[in-house]
Amino acid sequence: MAETDPRSRRVVVPGVRWLRFPRRLEAEYREYQCLEAVDSFRVNAFYILVLYLLLVTGIYALAPADVRGLWLGTYLWVGVIVMVAGILAQFRGLDRYFPLYTGVGSFLAVMLSMAIPGFLDEPGSVQLANVSVIYALVIVYAMVGLRFPLATLACWAGGMFGWLIAEQFGRGIDWQIAHRTYTGVSLLGMFLCYTEEVRGRLLFFNQRQLQRQQNRTQALAERLHRLSREDSLTGLANRRYFDEVLDREWRRCQRERVPLTVMLVDVDRFKAYNDHYGHLQGDECLRALAAELRSYSRRGGDMVARFGGEEFVLLYPGVDETEAARLASRLCRTVRGMGLRHEYNPPFGEVTISVGVAWTVPMENRSAIKLVDAADQALYQAKEGGRDGWRLYEPPPTVRLVRDIGKRRED
Ligand code: GH3
Ligand code: MG
Ligand code: MG
Repeated sequence: MAETDPRSRRVVVPGVRWLRFPRRLEAEYREYQCLEAVDSFRVNAFYILVLYLLLVTGIYALAPADVRGLWLGTYLWVGVIVMVAGILAQFRGLDRYFPLYTGVGSFLAVMLSMAIPGFLDEPGSVQLANVSVIYALVIVYAMVGLRFPLATLACWAGGMFGWLIAEQFGRGIDWQIAHRTYTGVSLLGMFLCYTEEVRGRLLFFNQRQLQRQQNRTQALAERLHRLSREDSLTGLANRRYFDEVLDREWRRCQRERVPLTVMLVDVDRFKAYNDHYGHLQGDECLRALAAELRSYSRRGGDMVARFGGEEFVLLYPGVDETEAARLASRLCRTVRGMGLRHEYNPPFGEVTISVGVAWTVPMENRSAIKLVDAADQALYQAKEGGRDGWRLYEPPPTVRLVRDIGKRRED
């Protein structure tokens, strides 16, 4: 959205000088500006009130006794306006009405301040009354937090109405003084308010760009992280992520003293499948199998991953021999039930799998790699046994003996 001006190397933001961003951005800015302004005004209202009270003490000290009552009586309303606006700003629910109530309040305060000099005679009082106009304008332009067009409208309309009131009911305005106070300060206030808004808009735009950049970088990082764990063909977890989870679950099961089961799944005669149906059809078959296997991950720590080639691996924390046997046998039946034609896989004529199952209760002196290795050996036995079936790893007799002695010692 922003372009770089090659001469100045400065970022040119569309619509900043004219105080108007493109439509959607403008709406966003206004909402942001409104909330920022209310936040500042919650505090500023207090300072404005202090300034107002300073002026009131000045009026009280300097104004002649005969006009003091009338003047303070009229001017009291400016204090009421500031207080009402300050109180309204404390209610979050009214935040979106902030430009409305401060705009109307500013208009009324400037109008009152502008009208008062028209009702006074004594030159000292008139001068003091004109000072109050300066106060009102500086406060509206610099302290209320209205956007430039609203502040300008409130001050000029307030000034015009105040002048009309003074003309209509009082002695009119002395423009010699009014130009030095009202007109001069209005122009200066407009300039200050304008530059402040330009600055605010630039800040908003830069913050927004930064935020978007951050969001984009974060989304990209998350995507990369996900991709680094995902197998691109099947969308399952890849081998690297499996290793990570295996390690984590191994340690968790060791702490909790619960069993951990690993199942290695290998598609039967898949080379022949590829050779006859083509590699693309082979990919399609792997995807279909992956989708079916996905439903075999049921609980938090469970995992289904692509182990490599036409092999998948399933990890089940908290699952022992009996449940593992049930799951493996159901898995084989599920794949047969898919009815994927494979004429070169006799005697089945359909895609089948062989499953190697191994389980253990993880301990310090055992290793996760050995568990996977055991599942691989069981898989080999399943293939030997004629495919389309599963085998539970049975340790060779010597290992079994060592294991049983160890178990007796633990008991
Ligand atoms: P067995 O029943 O003994 O497992 O026989 P097999 O043919 O399945 O085993 P082998 O290891 O000889 O062949 C595995 C085949 O899997 C070879 C390879 O073409 C295929 N394969 C591995 N990865 C992919 C893949 O990503 N896409 C496809 N389409 N085929 C793959
Ligand atoms: Mg294989
Ligand atoms: Mg195979």
